[in-house]
Amino acid sequence: MFGTIDGTGFDVLDPSFETCFIGHAKVERLWTGGRWLEGPAYFAAGRFLLWSDIPNNRIMRWDETDGSVSVFREPSNNSNGHTVDTLGRLVSCEHLSRRVTRTEIDGSIKAIAEKFEGKRLNSPNDVVVKSDGSIWFTDPSYGILMDYEGEREQSEIGACHVYRFDPETEDLQTVATDFMKPNGLAFSPDETELYVSDTGATHTPDGPAHIRRHKVNDDGKSLGKGEVFADCTKGFFDGFRFDQDGRIWTSAEDGVHCLDQNGKLIGKITIPEIVSNVCFGGPKRNRLFITATTSLYSVFLNVNGVR
Ligand code: MG
Repeated sequence: MFGTIDGTGFDVLDPSFETCFIGHAKVERLWTGGRWLEGPAYFAAGRFLLWSDIPNNRIMRWDETDGSVSVFREPSNNSNGHTVDTLGRLVSCEHLSRRVTRTEIDGSIKAIAEKFEGKRLNSPNDVVVKSDGSIWFTDPSYGILMDYEGEREQSEIGACHVYRFDPETEDLQTVATDFMKPNGLAFSPDETELYVSDTGATHTPDGPAHIRRHKVNDDGKSLGKGEVFADCTKGFFDGFRFDQDGRIWTSAEDGVHCLDQNGKLIGKITIPEIVSNVCFGGPKRNRLFITATTSLYSVFLNVNGVR
């Protein structure tokens, strides 16, 4: 499906945004028919994209070679965020089973994080893999607050943390414990900083709707104290990714917001649905895939995502 979609386009808020997109490249709607899409992850070796349709309890697959869309996994335990690890394996957050899994080369699904200090996680939301293979994820309570995206249950931990899983030692540690609802996360291109969104304002008036930035300590395993990097001007920053030049491309209510290295909003890709997450893909990683409520969109940009 190609062509101009009503309500899509580029909104330049600072001249520096003008070099980031291609004037005649249109936003395409690749698929529609979901309920709340999340967690796009691009697999370069197979030339396909996976993403979650959380309420419908399935993972979808778009094939770059012919544009076809199929169901990759159903039921998916209401999976949310996904990423690809250093060996090309799928790593997934699951709301219903309250765990993080890895899909092995033989197709089997291995649980890699389910409990912290003997207590079940809340509902892992989004995940990223560092170049050393460690798996970092957020654990807000959205999947246990209601039955729509998981199952209503009590939090055993009683708080929403950011975690690091070490695949060598299988050790799970908290790296940040002062978030309200930690959500999307991404390392800066040089991995010296971790950025994490907090969507606490979804359930708490005057709660946070921002992205925080934390220095990664010299041990590579822990974080320094965080600071607010950017406040969301429309809705919430949910999932986001970096381009190679250090800009953040983040979800928001009215589309994708592009933030420069100082956190300044320099432009938007307008989308006619609430955007949940993005990821770069295509062989050159110059195509942005956008999950937005019921539909999957994409657009070719003049920037390249971090590999
Ligand atoms: Mg999220």
